[in-house]
Amino acid sequence: MKLAARIAQVPASMTLAIAAKAKAMKADGIDVLGFGAGEPDFDTPEHIKAAAKKALDEGKTKYGAAAGEALLREAIARKLYRDNQLAYNAENVLVCNGGKHSLYNIFQTFLDPGDEVIIPAPYWLSYPEMVKLASGVPVIVQTDLSENFKITPSQLKQAITPRTKFFVLNSPSNPTGIVYTPAEIRALANVILDSQVWVISDEIYEKTLYDDAEHLSIASLGRELFERTFVSNGFAKTYSMTGWRVGYVAGPVEEIKAMTRLQSHSTSNVCTFAQYGAIAALEGSQDCVTEMLSAFAARRKVMLDYLNAIPGLECPQPDGAFYMFPSIRKTGMRSMEFCDALLASHQVAAVPGIAFGADDAIRISYATDMDTIRKGMERLDDFVRSRLA
Ligand code: GLU
Repeated sequence: MKLAARIAQVPASMTLAIAAKAKAMKADGIDVLGFGAGEPDFDTPEHIKAAAKKALDEGKTKYGAAAGEALLREAIARKLYRDNQLAYNAENVLVCNGGKHSLYNIFQTFLDPGDEVIIPAPYWLSYPEMVKLASGVPVIVQTDLSENFKITPSQLKQAITPRTKFFVLNSPSNPTGIVYTPAEIRALANVILDSQVWVISDEIYEKTLYDDAEHLSIASLGRELFERTFVSNGFAKTYSMTGWRVGYVAGPVEEIKAMTRLQSHSTSNVCTFAQYGAIAALEGSQDCVTEMLSAFAARRKVMLDYLNAIPGLECPQPDGAFYMFPSIRKTGMRSMEFCDALLASHQVAAVPGIAFGADDAIRISYATDMDTIRKGMERLDDFVRSRLA
């Protein structure tokens, strides 16, 4: 059957495709090392699983409110106040099927054909596709290594037109791992305040920060920004709950109600008992978050040491998330060719930078165990050296 135009123009998610390919190769007995998807390798903490099991046993198996369980919406509002100084009520919160779905709902609800969305590149690969699926126009603003991959206030200002509806801010960033400093967030906020543009602040990696990096939600910078920002977040990365599919968006009440209408005709509520696990994640001990973070920090250090020792790669030090985004410019290869050859000859799976709008880089996730990291980086070293020789 002929595809609808909106789907015909959208490729499958390359992060998911590469992760699936690596898993399939492993199942076939191939010794492949996967650095594709950003998926923490830890099990979901016990107390979170126990809360979901209890909810199941208590019969939390029926349809729930489309916007999410009241108790979870309240817990999220408390979290946003406690951690981010954002004074939301439960009615400001919509629980969605993961962070990806929160963003999808925003674009579907607010974009009309031709509406523009400013997206700094390198970007998380689903942003432009979701904008296109909503008939919007992604306006990509290229940043590069020399600016530490950060959009500057003047770049943002220049990209704004009368058709601009949203600016997507993702800090800590997937795929680069950069974190905007509070001063940089304030400078971008000033540009936004001089315009009519709304912000989508994707804060899914807010807890994955290293050294002195700080997370500041742009929505916390005064009443006007608070009322013109959607904060998107979820449980997958912070609590190793990727398969649970629980995320959320917070914003002004009328806008949240409109998104709830969309959700009521598409997915209805998020899996009811999974939401009780999410409540336990927010209200229970946060020691699990600290433990996972210290494992990520150790892996980051080891991976960075390896990458910095590979001639021909240039890797900025990431301050957050769990990705390295080394430049492969000096190898003379484009990112697709590089990743295909790396997988074929050394059985290492990485994501080509072209998927994130940067064809001279690759993304390597360190949300995997230390042994895999060491072996994988040795293979990568060997691969790059053989190509440079
Ligand atoms: N966000 C993760 C990644 O970038 C998970 C995969 C996906 O949804 O794209 O790898």
